[in-house]
Amino acid sequence: MSVEHFDVLVVGAGLSGIGAGYHLQTQCPGKRYAILEGRRDLGGTWDLFRYPGIRSDSDMFTLGYSFRPWKEAKTVAEGPAILQYLRETAEEFGIDRHIRFQQRVRSASWSSQQARWTVEVTRGEDKELVSYTCHFLYLCSGYYDYEQGHAPQFAGSDDFQGQLIHPQQWPGSLDYRDKRIVVIGSGATAVTLIPALAQTAAHVTMLQRSPTYLLVLPTDDRVAQMLGKLCPEWLAHRLTRWKNVLLGIYFYQLCRRSPERAKKFFRAQLAKELPPNFDIETHFQPHYGPWDQRVCIVPDANLFRTIRDGRVSVVTDQIANLTKHGVALQSGRELQADIIVTATGLKLLPCGGVRLFVDGEAVEPGQSLTYKGVMLSNVPNLAACVGYINAAWTLRADLSSAYVCRLLNYMDRHGYTSCMPRWDDAALEGRPLLGLTSGYVQRAADLFPKQGAKAPWLLHQNYLLDLLTLHFSRVNDGFVVFSKGSPRAVPHRKVSPLTMHNSEP
Ligand SMILES: Cc1cc2nc3c(=O)[nH]c(=O)nc-3n(C[C@H](O)[C@H](O)[C@H](O)COP(=O)(O)OP(=O)(O)OC[C@H]3O[C@@H](n4cnc5c(N)ncnc54)[C@H](O)[C@@H]3O)c2cc1C
Repeated sequence: MSVEHFDVLVVGAGLSGIGAGYHLQTQCPGKRYAILEGRRDLGGTWDLFRYPGIRSDSDMFTLGYSFRPWKEAKTVAEGPAILQYLRETAEEFGIDRHIRFQQRVRSASWSSQQARWTVEVTRGEDKELVSYTCHFLYLCSGYYDYEQGHAPQFAGSDDFQGQLIHPQQWPGSLDYRDKRIVVIGSGATAVTLIPALAQTAAHVTMLQRSPTYLLVLPTDDRVAQMLGKLCPEWLAHRLTRWKNVLLGIYFYQLCRRSPERAKKFFRAQLAKELPPNFDIETHFQPHYGPWDQRVCIVPDANLFRTIRDGRVSVVTDQIANLTKHGVALQSGRELQADIIVTATGLKLLPCGGVRLFVDGEAVEPGQSLTYKGVMLSNVPNLAACVGYINAAWTLRADLSSAYVCRLLNYMDRHGYTSCMPRWDDAALEGRPLLGLTSGYVQRAADLFPKQGAKAPWLLHQNYLLDLLTLHFSRVNDGFVVFSKGSPRAVPHRKVSPLTMHNSEP
């Protein structure tokens, strides 16, 4: 049976994969590409998560694509609106015709002799095994496990007589009207979910082990509105996007370089929004520095409004066990609940769970270095799309896809069949890819590629630096081996665990 061949195979039809499709067909129009998507529909994150209130945590001028401006008035968008935007983008540019649904990529094997990947896929309900070959493999598979979220086991879970729900598997039919709900967690999901639940629930308790930095932002962007009146639409969008990029970089740098000033700013916002005798120190003053972990957005201070109204209370304590009627805390207190929501985070997964092989040898992503945050050391003709942790994902995804296209065009111009970032510097140290101290990042740090201490092995969390590194730098920078036949055989060198250390982002 003949195996279908593509110039480029993209894995995943989420925000990154759809963006990759756009870049490929506009910047490499001669390339035949397909997007393999494991699920029945496109949208990834924005199709999977269906809990009440699901919304963006970034402004949509930067989370939306540069090539298709976000036109709604609100800067923070609800999940269904983002999904609709992704659907319309895929349709408008004919990207949807390239997507093959229910095709989960299991493994990909590179042959240096043939200079191509063989990709093994399970297709459809019956999980029929199918193979494809491609010249270049582009993983746009996100960063977490779609099968399950992080769900810590609580003693006494079987005793609890109410409903125990993880936001990643939210039951559409759940009736929470007039119910007492305890939401375990203090991250973006909890902060998003709680004000939405509080609209009809009897009461919602936010139960957290430790607080998170919360930033109040208005959902109306006055500057964007003013620019919209003064400039043509394309210019207003471009200026607003740049304004938000620069403000984001400024705020992140302020947090990292002047944490005490930033802490004062966070505290002043809280003092303004919360009732006068609210214990801010216990409930909203984290024990780490701003941006050691993700800062969560509270649009129009909605969470604080529900606290002021008495519909939401915050408890900072440790769980002892679940009981028949709720949660017993280590302080001895018990919280009554009809529903417990475990907003305890994601389970991170590198490379969409695709097992990679180079000439028969297994690639352990956790033992590779990232090259410019796009390719993996000593792995030929492969890129992986990674967004920002401190800004909108799409800003980096756009740069990553544009870089892949530059690389492919460069190879075509020079007749190269393969490219491989070569890392043979034993002195390089492997540092975690994502410099966050959050539990969900730390738990999976070993599984993800590492970054080095210097360019081009660094993953910048900075759009301006990435613009220089990915957009304006030379493709042939001396670190990538280009080859007309097979790439020079380089052993798949591993990052020595002895030289690994935690680092600042
Ligand atoms: C609840 C939530 C809210 C978020 N909010 C924001 C935000 O406001 N701003 C922001 O910047 N980021 C946010 N993020 C991060 C978010 O994941 C990105 O914004 C963006 O959606 C990532 O897009 P992606 O296409 O790279 O990955 P995903 O959206 O995860 O899509 C990956 C796709 O690849 C498919 N796939 C994975 N593995 C395989 C495989 N082996 N074979 C076939 N298909 C596969 C999946 O089915 C999925 O469709 C949020 C994340 C979550 C979970």
